[in-house]
Amino acid sequence: MSVVQESPSAVRLRAAELRRLIEHHNYLYYVLDAPEVPDAEYDRLLRELQDLEARFPDLVVSDSPTQRVGASPLETFAEVVHEVPMLSLANAFSEEEVRDFDRRVRERLGVERVEYTAETKIDGLAVSFRYEEGRLVRAATRGDGTRGEDVTANVRTLRAVPLRLRGSDLPGLLEVRGEVFMTLAGFRALNERQRSHGEKTFANPRNAAAGSLRQLDPAVTAERPLTFFCYGVARCEGCGLPDRHSELLQTLAGWGLRVSPEVRVVAGVEGCLAYYAELGRRRDALDYEIDGVVYKVDRLDQQLALGFVSRAPRWAVAHKFPAREELTRVLGVEFQVGRTGALTPVARLEPVQVGGATVSNATLHNMAEVERKDVRVGDTVIVRRAGDVIPEVVGVLPDRRPADAAQVSLPRVCPACGADVVRVEGEAVARCSGGLYCPAQRKEAVRHFASRRAMDIEGLGEKLVDQLVDRGLVRTVADLYALSPAQIADLERMGEKSAENLVHAIERSRRTTLARFLFALGIREVGEATARTLARHFASLDAVTAADEEALQGAPDIGPIVARHIVSFFAQPHNREVVAALRAAGVEWEEGEPRVVPTPLAGQTFVLTGTLSTLGREEAKSRLLALGAKVAGSVSARTRYVVAGADPGSKLERARELGVEVLDEGAFLGLLQRAEGAGQAQEA
Ligand code: NAD
Repeated sequence: MSVVQESPSAVRLRAAELRRLIEHHNYLYYVLDAPEVPDAEYDRLLRELQDLEARFPDLVVSDSPTQRVGASPLETFAEVVHEVPMLSLANAFSEEEVRDFDRRVRERLGVERVEYTAETKIDGLAVSFRYEEGRLVRAATRGDGTRGEDVTANVRTLRAVPLRLRGSDLPGLLEVRGEVFMTLAGFRALNERQRSHGEKTFANPRNAAAGSLRQLDPAVTAERPLTFFCYGVARCEGCGLPDRHSELLQTLAGWGLRVSPEVRVVAGVEGCLAYYAELGRRRDALDYEIDGVVYKVDRLDQQLALGFVSRAPRWAVAHKFPAREELTRVLGVEFQVGRTGALTPVARLEPVQVGGATVSNATLHNMAEVERKDVRVGDTVIVRRAGDVIPEVVGVLPDRRPADAAQVSLPRVCPACGADVVRVEGEAVARCSGGLYCPAQRKEAVRHFASRRAMDIEGLGEKLVDQLVDRGLVRTVADLYALSPAQIADLERMGEKSAENLVHAIERSRRTTLARFLFALGIREVGEATARTLARHFASLDAVTAADEEALQGAPDIGPIVARHIVSFFAQPHNREVVAALRAAGVEWEEGEPRVVPTPLAGQTFVLTGTLSTLGREEAKSRLLALGAKVAGSVSARTRYVVAGADPGSKLERARELGVEVLDEGAFLGLLQRAEGAGQAQEA
């Protein structure tokens, strides 16, 4: 908070400055869904202005952001006028502020103790839903509280929102208020998808929810994992409403509207504070983001008696949790090397309290993210820490960049082994090329190899692996089988007994299955399921290593990328040496005869051109390969069929010139299905 010299003109200037800043942030947050600063920073500015206005009441102007909610709606949506305004909530940042709130409520009502409904404060966006005769007829955003945006078409795509209410005794008109939000799982999946497509990621679930709902194309909203809870009623005509807010919520639930399962009725301020503590403990376990809890006077007659101030009801308060996002400075960027050699840039930060813990490192994910966000050493950044997820840098404040901020560059050589770092053009991730010789990769590789679902070497934990690799006892996973009890007993925190146990665990792991072994090798993109498929399909390690990309794609669910990774893994001489050493060390499994795969399209060459509407080019190709067909890039006299999708290229003309049979999408799908059916029949 800046120190204001208390001269009237200085105070006035600061108030004007704060109003300008807050308006600016309101616009970015409410209109563009793209805030520049974390909420904690915005709240500090708003608090400062509120304090100034409280001390100098002449400063209060009717259009001050302390007097209004939100921001004007976007003109691209039709406007909806809220007959009952959509207000904000007063905030409490400490127990003392909650006690003050409760005292004011009791004094105004002239009662000793108040019953409150306690609810979670979900971080999404407020939406008003209008039902007429039980049918959803309109949905609108809050906007500036009186004028919102018509988002009916978008809201209709949310599966959680009933288009018709349940039951027979329905009100003629019902206007419900609720919060549309995104679950954390949905948010992570969405960002993952955006990242892999090189598109903009969302800073947090709230922005993702707001950005997803306020789309001009409802089809985009439909693809986004949005849901909602309702928390109040603005109007109800033709229904006798209950006397209490908590009962009102039950009525809404009875009509099929989603209500948070966390709603409780609590007694007095002590009940409120106990609820806050309980939800604080459970905050990380919830699958959606809450930024606090809300206490509402439960009796509706008491709510009415208390009324409103300009932007919030007097009968409710939001008790905020420690912020999940904060501002801090980047002191440096280091690169960590993972099992597959991927280099992850990690920001070293000036320590800062985020969500109740001190954060001094945060991930920057990969070089493409560093470039996209343009993070530099010396920058002020927003860090986010939510639950047990690794803290991450979500954005930079370019206005606060010092003149000497240094750009982050990808190291040319691996910080752990000195091998060249390679970043394939167009790929987000850079990798160390040192393979299993790189100690960082080796440690990760050994950890993975020993893990429960791989070779299951009990007792070989992270610290032990570090020591084994650092002391040069284990260079490749095969060296594990040559360790002597004496060597193990010599390690830190290892007694004779535990050394003996570990030796036995290593011994036991020799007898394994082909699927576990393939998974344990840590081939990129080969997870447990793929390893099982490979083992079932090829039945022997030699058959897997001998298979080329096409043969690999003949196994179910193995696509071109996985096939390429498998081939390139076994093409590396050092990987082949490690596999040979493991077998020489007595690692064994049962092998069988490879399954004879029926290949009804064997010997037939296909050429694909144009776009197919029901399946991607890669999928079409892998299904053809699985049937024994060949797929070529150009048309020749040997081509059996040309498959022409929409907008075919010159290949179609060539096919006509050569008299090659052309299949449209429907004919092609028919042929695929018949061939697949024939294949299955032969197998059976
Ligand atoms: P608010 O979000 O703090 O509280 C009011 C809102 O809470 C309601 O509109 C409703 O949408 C929601 N809510 C969730 N659960 C509820 C429940 N159980 N009962 C009632 N309401 C519930 O207030 P606000 O005026 O919408 O906005 C202020 C918030 O937005 C602050 O957190 C502020 O930091 C943030 N903000 C941030 C920026 C920025 O630049 N980072 C800018 C503007 C606002």
